[in-house]
Amino acid sequence: MKMIRCEKLTKSYQGFPALKGISFSIDGPGCYGFIGSNGSGKTTAIRIMAGLAKATSGRIQIEGYDVERDQKNIAKLIGYLPQNPAYYDYMTGEEWMMLSGKLFGLSKTEIKLRTERLLKRCGIWEARKRKIGGYSGGMKQRLGLAQALINEPKLLLLDEPVSALDPMGRHQVLELIEELKRDHMIFMSSHILDDVEKTADHILILHKGQLLLSSAKQDLLKEYAGSAIKFQLLAPNQTIVEAVTSQTWAERIEASNTSYRVVVNDLEKAKAQLPLIIQEEAGVITDYRIEALSLQDIFFKVVNA
Ligand code: ADP
Repeated sequence: MKMIRCEKLTKSYQGFPALKGISFSIDGPGCYGFIGSNGSGKTTAIRIMAGLAKATSGRIQIEGYDVERDQKNIAKLIGYLPQNPAYYDYMTGEEWMMLSGKLFGLSKTEIKLRTERLLKRCGIWEARKRKIGGYSGGMKQRLGLAQALINEPKLLLLDEPVSALDPMGRHQVLELIEELKRDHMIFMSSHILDDVEKTADHILILHKGQLLLSSAKQDLLKEYAGSAIKFQLLAPNQTIVEAVTSQTWAERIEASNTSYRVVVNDLEKAKAQLPLIIQEEAGVITDYRIEALSLQDIFFKVVNA
């Protein structure tokens, strides 16, 4: 039996098809990165999985339980962190955990035990007696993760858990997710592909309400093995961008001030011709390197295929 089995799931909002029949089956530990641009339907799908929204058609089963019909069993199996968790700012972290535990019908003693373990694990035990209103964004997300774990779920559904955080907060929360994925299956949506590339073991790509791909990250990186050439010039040079764009070996060029990155489909040709183009257009190279494709590159390839 698969942990998550999603069958032909659709959702329409007043006739607008936000999900157009997505199907996938995934199982096992690790982190599943659910990626897609804003508006692709990630939140809608996660809310349906969490039992907070109704599908228009199709169904989701978690460990064999139907999300719509078996809410009681589902509630024991999943922990959910919404995109923008709302807190009572006047409460302390500890009080918040108490409230959350009560909602699951846990005894006071049990909640206390779990609160200590979870707040320590999530790195906010020291702040447990401080009001949530004074927490940083990263601390609030870590409290949200502790809260999502209060019922000891097998599956954690995280909707854009790091997108609103500053670099330090993002780093801390991603490290925590990295640790949590050893004991829980994590299904995490994000539109920040760098974060997913680091943390996820399996990638699902959602685009305009359709699931384009579901694959182990290693397989995906192997399948789309390719290269990009990164170079830096002394001064910005638009004519080089134009010249490179017209080459058959160049799939895409990203330019930012004096930094350039070309995704290539024929590395040998690109290696032979790119330096010549730069020279012809009077560019002065200050740095030049070849690197593997990133998840972002693969995402663009899949979405534009
Ligand atoms: P994502 O999480 O990938 O950004 P969403 O699931 O939030 O995508 O949204 C998918 C699409 O559905 C978007 O076009 C969005 O505008 C639309 N949508 C989401 N929620 C509602 C709603 N409650 N009413 C109408 N349209 C909605």
